[in-house]
Amino acid sequence: MKVGIIRCQMTEDMCPGSTDFKVAREGSLAFEQIGPAEIVGFLSCGGCPGKKAVMRARMMVDHGAEAVVFTSCMKNGTPIGYPCRILPQSKTLLKKSPAPKQQSLIGPTKRHDLR
Ligand code: SF4
Repeated sequence: MKVGIIRCQMTEDMCPGSTDFKVAREGSLAFEQIGPAEIVGFLSCGGCPGKKAVMRARMMVDHGAEAVVFTSCMKNGTPIGYPCRILPQSKTLLKKSPAPKQQSLIGPTKRHDLR
């Protein structure tokens, strides 16, 4: 499966996203349900308050992503201890997207059910 990843912009100076690429390639952790994935895009939310996240996710769908992944740094706030407050809203907005290829929203480094 081809995936696009949205990450927290505030963590960019601390984390290059290496684990995201590793677990996607391996199909491990959160990717166990879908197997090895090819990352077609790896973009930040654009910074607080994250208004670019959904637009950027849709852009990656337009470029072949079959699923959009929000990183665990957004959900859990690691490593800065600041869980993203707009993540639930971004998920809701993206689920309403008419893009037919969009299938799931998962965090790459934690086990989550596909939503
Ligand atoms: S906290 Fe949320 S809106 Fe702010 S930079 Fe991180 S992901 Fe983006």
